[in-house]
Amino acid sequence: MRFYLGTHQPAWLGRDLGVPLLVSHRRLAGRRSFPRARNPFAVDSGGFSELSLYGRWRTDERSYVAALRRYASEIGRFDWAAPMDWMTESRVLARTGLSLRTHQQRTVANYLRLRDLAPELPIIAVLQGQSVADFHRCADLYERHGIDLASLPLLGVGSICRRQHSREVEQILRSLAARGYRLHAFGAKVLGLGRYADAISSSDSAAWSYGGRFVPGCSPSHRSESNCLRFALSWHARLLTSLRAEAPEHGIDHRAGHRPPGRSSSRHRNRPRARDARPTGTHPRSVNARSVCARRPRPEGASHTTRTSATA
Ligand SMILES: [Zn+2]
Repeated sequence: MRFYLGTHQPAWLGRDLGVPLLVSHRRLAGRRSFPRARNPFAVDSGGFSELSLYGRWRTDERSYVAALRRYASEIGRFDWAAPMDWMTESRVLARTGLSLRTHQQRTVANYLRLRDLAPELPIIAVLQGQSVADFHRCADLYERHGIDLASLPLLGVGSICRRQHSREVEQILRSLAARGYRLHAFGAKVLGLGRYADAISSSDSAAWSYGGRFVPGCSPSHRSESNCLRFALSWHARLLTSLRAEAPEHGIDHRAGHRPPGRSSSRHRNRPRARDARPTGTHPRSVNARSVCARRPRPEGASHTTRTSATA
């Protein structure tokens, strides 16, 4: 399993960190220049923020594709990019005023449109839903439109990162993996990850940053650790060390590596499951902080960089 470190610091792409990064389109869009990527990375569309804040996508598919092409050429080829999907958390549904099924239909329609516009880009399909049945209905919807999800290198699973019950998340992911899908669990909860790490190909989290808000800065220039590169890397390393220790058979990919997405865990699908990951280390509060999804809404311009320096 590959674990992407969620960051709102695009500059980290240009540092040789040895970990794969997940960066939101919201953080990249509008920049005049980009660093050349020295790490594998993936692009999140920032849909949760977009829909939570505005109740709709303010960009269209053509503009998104143009931005992704620019990232691919100027930053470097990304592992994959999320589509302009429609999350189904109740607060998002309340904001858009649309039904869960409409969000699913729009998610599928968007993927089909992006695929037509930019077949050369590694844009992944994403499943949205709340219950196990919802996610399977969403998968069926793709299949009815001729998308063979099991043949795709990676399939995203959204709307799971704010769940309180990792057991239900596990049920969703295991039942989808049983259909032969290679899954990316968006914003997986760190404390539940060990349960189903064998059922997914990859995941991501920016929980370190939100936990880091409550940790005193490591240097005079860091008021807290919410933007600290050293803190983030330490968090990532401890998380994966813990996962590997608990489930060495899961093939946890701790280095950057260049394995194609979705290939790492499929052969381990039937292995016994691990217990919850319980990372240990010098910053236990940061690792065990409540999981916060990388797709957390963050108004434009709101940045920790106004208070702290961007990197360690
Ligand atoms: Zn620091």
